[in-house]
Amino acid sequence: MKYPVVTNFVGGTATAPTATLQDVFDPSEGTVISKVALSTAAEVDHAAQTAKLAFASWSAMPIKDRAQVFFRYKSLLEGQVDDLAKLVSEENGKVFSEAKAEVERGIECVEYACSLPQLSGGEILEVSRGVDCRIDRWPLGVVSSITPFNFPNMVPNWTIPNALALGNTMILKPSELVPMSAIRLAQVLEEAGLPPGVFNVVQGGKDAVEAICDHPDIEAISFVGSTAVAKAVYRRGTGNLKRVLALGGAKNHLVVMPDADREMAAGNIVASMSGCAGQRCMAASVMVAVAATDHVIQRLIEVARQLVPGRTLGPVISAAAKARIERYIDEAEAAGAKVLLDGRKISVQGREQGFYLGPTIIDHVTPEMRIAQEEVFGPVLAIVRAKNVDEALAIENASPYGNAASVYTESGGVAKYFSSKAHAGMLGINVGVPVPREPFSFGGWNESKFGVGDITGRGSIEFWTKSRKTTIKWNREAGTNWMS
Ligand code: NAD
Repeated sequence: MKYPVVTNFVGGTATAPTATLQDVFDPSEGTVISKVALSTAAEVDHAAQTAKLAFASWSAMPIKDRAQVFFRYKSLLEGQVDDLAKLVSEENGKVFSEAKAEVERGIECVEYACSLPQLSGGEILEVSRGVDCRIDRWPLGVVSSITPFNFPNMVPNWTIPNALALGNTMILKPSELVPMSAIRLAQVLEEAGLPPGVFNVVQGGKDAVEAICDHPDIEAISFVGSTAVAKAVYRRGTGNLKRVLALGGAKNHLVVMPDADREMAAGNIVASMSGCAGQRCMAASVMVAVAATDHVIQRLIEVARQLVPGRTLGPVISAAAKARIERYIDEAEAAGAKVLLDGRKISVQGREQGFYLGPTIIDHVTPEMRIAQEEVFGPVLAIVRAKNVDEALAIENASPYGNAASVYTESGGVAKYFSSKAHAGMLGINVGVPVPREPFSFGGWNESKFGVGDITGRGSIEFWTKSRKTTIKWNREAGTNWMS
């Protein structure tokens, strides 16, 4: 194996695995590069006890001092972007430029945490003569972050810096498919001066997640992953009276109007459906082509044909994912959809065992087909035809998901109409991947997010803290009013 067994990281120590081991693959080669320990409830408990001990002194530090760790963390990450990106690329498969962009986007989240002393201050007001009310933000205690395979570096950094800078201690449970980047982040945090026990990594899958949902000393859980698991985590965590924010899957619709800028729309849509091999919760999954848009579709095919699997397009995460995506394409074709660009039988020279699929564009998909309804999570674009913007909106709004939706048009009126009617938490006007950048918060609607608030930016301050309201009376005239 290229790498030693990936361990847990608890209290500043790499703890030897006692649990079952699972293979870790390099998806671009299809080979096993390491093994990861699948932790049990006992290992979650050890991490929770450790994080609980660390909470007392970490939460008592002034936020300005805690933030200093994240200035150092940011600068250490910046100094090793290429190394971190190489690791992401190895365990997740995405091409190096995408991995690098992911690491850089994660650093932007750290930058936000550095400004939390300025942003998270409380309020004070004289509410009655001689009487003040003040509100302070308090950390929750031990919190947990459960993350998916598709962004091994960035999604952990959505939660680590903000939750910790705000005074919590954390157990990160990364995806067992990509366990290595999480350990690297733990090492960088340690080097940045984070005290032992403030940040801990517990590897594993379902058992570890369930133990986190059940643990009495874990106060809050943020989850990012598929909708089925998001629902299960939300139900189990809130059932145990925890605060839970669970981000789920997506089915993002990009509506293309006949007046859309052809080059921009085609280029953006290909980048959105194929970036990270379509394994982004913000990926374009359905293009709703409104009326006379064949000229855009034609250009879309030309642009997509230029992608080179193995060089500009990475593999999907596993052999099982590849087989599942191919089944969606086969089924749509059998039901009458027309495959305009077929990524099924491609092979990358020298990496024949890699889990590659070429870009696939399928026209005349109907809204009833499974490929139009379910999350495919591969470099596949389904084109559904619509007569007008209302029909396009009806198709978009029929989806139970609500992560992102975009419209391509040169008309401000159409864009405004679309914005007021689309049922999604993150909208794009001529933008294929409408990710809000810091300080704006990330989070969808409907079955793409369960819980209150957002996971990054300003929305996360509310999630990672509780407010204390204090009423203060220090002088004599206060005794003359009703606030006794
Ligand atoms: P997943 O739901 O399979 O796994 C996510 C996490 O849950 C992992 O840590 C995994 O170990 C754990 N897990 C898996 N099965 C479980 C179970 N039965 N019980 C308890 N825990 C379980 O998701 P994934 O395949 O790793 O990631 C892809 C999914 O994540 C896609 O649906 C994608 O849309 C979604 N995603 C959403 C966002 C967002 O912001 N909404 C961002 C990234 C990814």
